[in-house]
Amino acid sequence: MPTPKAYSVKAYSAASATAPLAGTTISRREPTETDVQIRIQYCGVCHSDLHYARDEWHFTQFPAVPGHEIIGQVTAVGSAVTKFKVGDIAGVGCLVDSCRTCPDCQAGLEQFCTSMVMTYGSSDKHLGGPTHGGYSQSITVAEDFVLKIPANLDPAAAAPRLCAGITTFSPLHHWKVGKGQKVGVVGLGGLGHMGVKFAHALGAHVVLFTTSAGKADDAKRLGADEVVLSKDEAQMAKHANSFDFILDTVAATHDLNAYLNLLKRDGNLTLVGAPEKPLPVAAFPLIFRRRSLNGSLIGGLPETQEMLDFCGKHNITADIEMIKMEEINTAYERMLKSDVKYRFVIDMASL
Ligand SMILES: [Zn+2]
Ligand SMILES: [Zn+2]
Repeated sequence: MPTPKAYSVKAYSAASATAPLAGTTISRREPTETDVQIRIQYCGVCHSDLHYARDEWHFTQFPAVPGHEIIGQVTAVGSAVTKFKVGDIAGVGCLVDSCRTCPDCQAGLEQFCTSMVMTYGSSDKHLGGPTHGGYSQSITVAEDFVLKIPANLDPAAAAPRLCAGITTFSPLHHWKVGKGQKVGVVGLGGLGHMGVKFAHALGAHVVLFTTSAGKADDAKRLGADEVVLSKDEAQMAKHANSFDFILDTVAATHDLNAYLNLLKRDGNLTLVGAPEKPLPVAAFPLIFRRRSLNGSLIGGLPETQEMLDFCGKHNITADIEMIKMEEINTAYERMLKSDVKYRFVIDMASL
C-alpha cells in the first residue's frame, strides 16, 4: 500500500528497557479513507504497558510508546467511514488491525488472529517501525477497530474497559455466567475489581478470593456477596464442589488445585492472569468432577463493543486514580506494589 502522509504528535516513550519514560515526538498517519483520527483524552495504565516499556516480554521495539486503553474525541474521518463522525467519543483497545480473512477474524475473534496488529509493539503497516500506543496526543486507527463509547459513561473511568474490562467480561460472557450461578473471582486488583462488578451485574452470586483481609469491605462495595481468605483452609473447604465458574486474575504463583476443588461437576476455572512460571495441576480434581481449566485473552471487536454497551446499560465503569503524564514512572512503581485502587488513568491533557 502507498505510504500515507504523516503528522507529528507529542508522546511519552521509553528509550530503552532501563530508561524512565519521557517526552518525545512520534509520527501518526493522516487518515486514509477507512481511518478514524482520534485526539486522545484519557489512557488507562495496564500492567502490560510496564512489561513492554521494560522489554520484559523480549519483543519491545524502542522507542516504546505504551497504552492500549484509549478514549478520545474523533477529529477526522476518512471518506469511506460510516460509523463515526467528528466529535464522537471513541475508544481503542489492544488491537488496531488484523488479517480480517482467517477463521478467527471471520468469527469476530480478532484477538486470536496470528496476524493481529497490536496497538503497540507490532509492525506499523502504514508508516513502518513499531506501532505506538496511547501515551500520545492523537492516534489514527482503521474504523473497524474503533469502538463506540456509550454517552452516559464517564470517559476517563471507561478507559480501563478497553483492556482490563474486556479481559474479564469475555470469559464470563463466553461461559454464560448469569443468574442462579455461584461465581468466584480470584484477586482484587485491576482485573479482579472489574470481574466482581461484571459478575454481579450479570446476576451471579459472587465470591471474592483474596489473601488480604483488608480488601473485604471494598470487595463488598464493588458487588461481592461473600469474601473468602484463600489462605484459610477451613474457609476454603466450606465452598468445596459449589462453584459454577471461577475467574482467576492472579499473575503471581499460586495453587490452582485449591480452586479446582471448589468447582461443581462440569465447573470451569478460567485464567486471565499470567504467572511467569508454569503452575502444577493435579489430574484428580479435573477427572473426578469433569472440571475444566482454560484461559482467555481480551476479546474480539464485536464482543468488546457488546461489553461497552453492557457497561452503558448498567452504568459500570472502573474505579480509577487519575494521574498526569509526567507521573507515569511513579505510577509504574506503585502498580508493582499493587498500590492503586484500581486503575491509573492518564489525563492526556497533561502531556
Ligand atoms: Zn492491557
Ligand atoms: Zn485473521
